[in-house]
Amino acid sequence: PTTIEPTIFESLESEVRSYSRQWPTVFETAKGAWLRDEDGKEYLDFFAGAGALNYGHNNPVLKKALIEYIAGDGITHSLDMATVAKRRFLETFAMKVLEPRGLDYKVQFPGPTGANTVEAALKLARKVTGRESIINFTNAFHGMTLGALSVTGNAFKRAGAGIPLVHTTPMPFDNYFDGVMEDFHWFERVLDDSGSGLNRPAAVIVETVQGEGGVNVARPEWLRALADLCSRRGILLIVDDVQMGCGRTGPFFSFEVAGIEPDIVTLSKSIGGYGMPMALTLFKPELDVWAPGEHNGTFRGNNPSFVTAQVALEHYWSDDRLEVSTLEKGDKIHAEFSKLADAFDGVTTRGRGLVQGLAFENAESAGKVCQLAFDNGLLTETSGPTDGVVKLLPPLTITDEELDHGLRIIADATATVCS
Ligand code: PMP
Repeated sequence: PTTIEPTIFESLESEVRSYSRQWPTVFETAKGAWLRDEDGKEYLDFFAGAGALNYGHNNPVLKKALIEYIAGDGITHSLDMATVAKRRFLETFAMKVLEPRGLDYKVQFPGPTGANTVEAALKLARKVTGRESIINFTNAFHGMTLGALSVTGNAFKRAGAGIPLVHTTPMPFDNYFDGVMEDFHWFERVLDDSGSGLNRPAAVIVETVQGEGGVNVARPEWLRALADLCSRRGILLIVDDVQMGCGRTGPFFSFEVAGIEPDIVTLSKSIGGYGMPMALTLFKPELDVWAPGEHNGTFRGNNPSFVTAQVALEHYWSDDRLEVSTLEKGDKIHAEFSKLADAFDGVTTRGRGLVQGLAFENAESAGKVCQLAFDNGLLTETSGPTDGVVKLLPPLTITDEELDHGLRIIADATATVCS
């Protein structure tokens, strides 16, 4: 089978596939922070399904709940009917996530993926304000559907489809100019200048840490200044927490670090907990201007995901243990990466919680490090506009020993590539 299966990937599957090229093997099973390929070789997973597996592969607590649900003929289709699984999820989401943080949001099930929730957020902001344009940021990533792509700051991803990128205005992300122009006064002046041609935007969409964009971390004070600008100007603030939410940076919502309350929040990836599709759009109750059926679809209920999502919230978010351990593990990676940055020219590090990046001035080195890591049984990905940043996104449940093991592989690979 090993010789046949890669062939059909090549002959039948479109060239658009990417991860199957980067990791040229065929995976079969997975548990915790480990994947195993069909030849029995094991790989430590520092990519976690692109951030969809914060609780690890086949998490035993979630698996048990899912098996029991299916064994009991629980509803598995995804139409957004009222179901017991959905009710239990909503109750737990309110109790474990919203209420303890004093957050008041309505919940929309916008469809299965991250791009779906971004589309819903953009549509809602435009509908609420009656305005069209959206402010986005340099190096942002929000998904591959047309609307989400229009606010994505990645020329390669945008160019292919020849998209008419109208009604979006890119702004520099925090520290884009290496410390220069770090407030929004310049932007407000353009807004006030009626001759500037910049229409008042409906919304600003931002990631608190740009994952795909190269692990660019926005400072809390920058996020606060942005939130303040939006609220003074009547511009809605959308925080895209698809990748950084669900505890990736420590707290459940990544924006908690800045003490801000976005008008609209997008969640997906790890919200379902088991790596199966699920997404949420959260918005302030006064923004709930949707009419019934105005934004619907077939796969918006995700019942098995409701089951695992509910159990994940109950199990991992009843106290702050996961948040504390995520920050500690992040500190450990940061300390190891700082040693590499000190040891090798042109290497720097940045991150927050369990999203950490090792940036290489010579972008090709990042790809070589990932390739060597793969050969030695570790999955990681490059990110950033030139793919020059090795991005670490391990499951939050990874053990200290596993983390040490993976960090050793990266340190060795970096030494080999940079020496
Ligand atoms: N927003 C952000 C911040 C993301 O990182 C991603 C996916 N990497 C998306 C949106 C799109 O999610 P999906 O791939 O599920 O459409």
